[in-house]
Amino acid sequence: MEIVCLDLEGVLVPEIWINFAKRTGIKELEATTRDIPDYDVLMQQRLRILDEHKLGLKDIQAVIADMGPFPGAREFVEWVREHFQLIILSDTFSEFAHPLMRQLGWPTIMCHKLETDAEGRITNYLLRQPDQKRAAVKALHSLKYRVIAAGDSYNDTNMLSEAEKGILFDAPANVIREFPQFPVTHNYEELKAEIRSGSLRNIP
Ligand SMILES: [Mg+2]
Repeated sequence: MEIVCLDLEGVLVPEIWINFAKRTGIKELEATTRDIPDYDVLMQQRLRILDEHKLGLKDIQAVIADMGPFPGAREFVEWVREHFQLIILSDTFSEFAHPLMRQLGWPTIMCHKLETDAEGRITNYLLRQPDQKRAAVKALHSLKYRVIAAGDSYNDTNMLSEAEKGILFDAPANVIREFPQFPVTHNYEELKAEIRSGSLRNIP
């Protein structure tokens, strides 16, 4: 049996924080781990900024719903699910992913979680487990699945290494250079071709 594991941001949907910052015009939210390498410091800063702008979870979800998935993402997800089982492995939070999953036809996703209070203010975040993408592929192996995985960034490379086949999708040049073992794809047709070649079956 074969399972396809896909990263979410950069593969099926835009980078959530960057686009959220652009759409709301909140400059300070454009900071990423490149600017603030300590993820916890970065996240606490993001939550503080949301609070300062009085943005609760509902407001944030409305902005995210408006972003929508990439053109062709929904059809690509349908193709994968017709021929494989699909699990999306993402380092986002399930509450942020929710409006996008609706637009992708509710595929299975494993990611992290936010804490909110009664007013819908985000009070904290919970990372489900460290190195969760790799852990998920290992767990699927223990269930006797073959795994084909695709992602676009550093937080995917452990997942890609652990899988029987790992594929880069629209990755930045530095990632492509550092991980020459993974085939590089730039659109869904190329990604489909690599998924087909990673399968033991004949996939149309
Ligand atoms: Mg990504």
